[in-house]
Amino acid sequence: MYALNCPFPIRQYPHVLMAHGGGGTLMQQLIEKMFSHAFGPKPEGGLHDSTVLNLPANKIAFTTDSFVVKPLFFPGGDIGSLAVNGTVNDLCMSGARPLFLSLSFIIEEGLPMETLWMIVRSIKKAADLANIKIVTGDTKVVERGKGDSIYINTSGIGIIEHDLSILPTNIQNGDQIFINGDVGRHGIAIMATREGLDFETTIESDCCSLNDIVSKLIKSGIDIHCMRDLTRGGLASALNEITRDAFRAILINETSIPVEEQVASACAIMGFDPLYVANEGRFVMFVPEKQVAAALNIMQSHPDGKGACVIGEVLDENRPVVKLKSFIGASRILDMISGEQLPRIC
Ligand code: MG
Repeated sequence: MYALNCPFPIRQYPHVLMAHGGGGTLMQQLIEKMFSHAFGPKPEGGLHDSTVLNLPANKIAFTTDSFVVKPLFFPGGDIGSLAVNGTVNDLCMSGARPLFLSLSFIIEEGLPMETLWMIVRSIKKAADLANIKIVTGDTKVVERGKGDSIYINTSGIGIIEHDLSILPTNIQNGDQIFINGDVGRHGIAIMATREGLDFETTIESDCCSLNDIVSKLIKSGIDIHCMRDLTRGGLASALNEITRDAFRAILINETSIPVEEQVASACAIMGFDPLYVANEGRFVMFVPEKQVAAALNIMQSHPDGKGACVIGEVLDENRPVVKLKSFIGASRILDMISGEQLPRIC
């Protein structure tokens, strides 16, 4: 399915022209021969100004995100898979089952049509894996030098099919905090590519969709109090956001946070703290202590949770603070990052 034929616009127009975003025949050709070719036929009744959707639930989740990653292709992913998984994962974190996605391109004039086609194929593959349908989209082209190859915006709709209330304010004293694997790989994979750093084996982004693992946890009756994906700002920022909203203290054990050896050394070379580095397939989850074994079992038997473990707990303290018990046993405050550690990471 992903070995889709090279579509017509690539052969006739090797680069994106201003006219491909101009609303005329070239844009129609791009939509029909490339986008509809990849994402499915036009809806019955033809293309309209908006898509009408049937939602089989009363409660929906709705989110949006823009993707400006540089370089466009990196080990373990590209801007296309990122644009799908980023929005899918934000839906999953509120416990929703992702259903529909919008897809908006802002393309710089001159982008090789072949590059656009590679991104489109990657989007299709990621959307199929996450079981989400692309139902609406837009294409704009800006003049050469006024963009940076391509930016993508996706918005997603998911439905909530359970009675859990998955929110920061729902975390409780004694809740155990899970993570589904090692941290820091996405950000470091991108930085290493950008800086041309070579490691013994290539560090790959952890970019993946979390819908399947989350749906298994929910369907197995795990009483999830809160979840958050560890994107920009990494683990440290996500935990700080949660404590701030919940007004509760958290204690994290540094020794239990998985970091791959190569990621740790790359961080040391580049001066980054892996706890602040972005991930695209990692999340934390707050669960009552009595369900630790059950939750761990589900996570570790899933491909996206093989490295799952408990990294800390919620304390009986009503103040917004994340404490980190370090390797030597000393305790320090894990602060929110100030400013931008790694620009253009997602
Ligand atoms: Mg998020």
